Amino acid sequence: MVVVREVSCKSALSRCGIEGIDYSVNPYIGCEHGCIYCYARYMRYYSGHRETWGDFIDVKINAPLVLSRELYRKPRGRVILSTVTDPYQPLERRYQLTRSCLKRLLHHDFPVSVMTKSSLILRDIDLLTRFTSCEVGMTVITDDDGLRSFLEPKASPIDERLDALRRLADRGIVTYAFVGPIIPSLNDGEEDLRRLIRRLIDVGVDYLMFDRLNTRYGVVDRLSGFLKRRFPHLLKEFMKKIKLGDYYYRKIKYRVSKIMAEYDVPYEFCF
Ligand code: SF4
Repeated sequence: MVVVREVSCKSALSRCGIEGIDYSVNPYIGCEHGCIYCYARYMRYYSGHRETWGDFIDVKINAPLVLSRELYRKPRGRVILSTVTDPYQPLERRYQLTRSCLKRLLHHDFPVSVMTKSSLILRDIDLLTRFTSCEVGMTVITDDDGLRSFLEPKASPIDERLDALRRLADRGIVTYAFVGPIIPSLNDGEEDLRRLIRRLIDVGVDYLMFDRLNTRYGVVDRLSGFLKRRFPHLLKEFMKKIKLGDYYYRKIKYRVSKIMAEYDVPYEFCF
């Protein structure tokens, strides 16, 4: 059962170190999607929760109001929703904090970037299309929905995400697919990547981004425990690739670049 707590925040617009982004807005602490590879789970230590990541959410109930005040004071800049939570996790259906924050941002026409794994974003297409500058990134790391259900248990199924990307692109919103993390032995096969990339390009994304696995915050232990239970035959290879580190990811870059050379679509690596 997910423990939900309503909390107040003092600030909603935080400075952000991501290239090209000035601020982040995280209307929730914690994330119900509970992705096995999530490194944002370090937020748990700051939240005072004892529940495991995915089992608690702090709802920053006053975030839209606080944001509204900050938008009058702070210089204009690009805002990302979100960096350490998913702004369209299931609770957003009830609380509509992301929608309320978007309304405030739209009032000031701050440029926005939205990053999610949920088709719930389609609910807000009426707002997103009215920004002078808005882009939406959808994380899709595999087109195997069985694998997805293990790795990202409460995020939208793959077909829903692809459909959402198509509908956003059809409405003229800049979209990109975030293929990250590429996890050793789980979604790094050349044919798997080729098939996924083709499907992403087919839905009309403007560009693709690729990222490696962040191995901190117990991510490797969780993934190896998962492999031991579900895919024990992959465990040895997974650990070997993890140990190869940069060398392994150089090979991944080459693999992805080779596939992307078949298309005239921009792409970038985050590593
Ligand atoms: S959707 Fe993002 S923030 Fe939420 S659990 Fe997954 S990786 Fe973490």
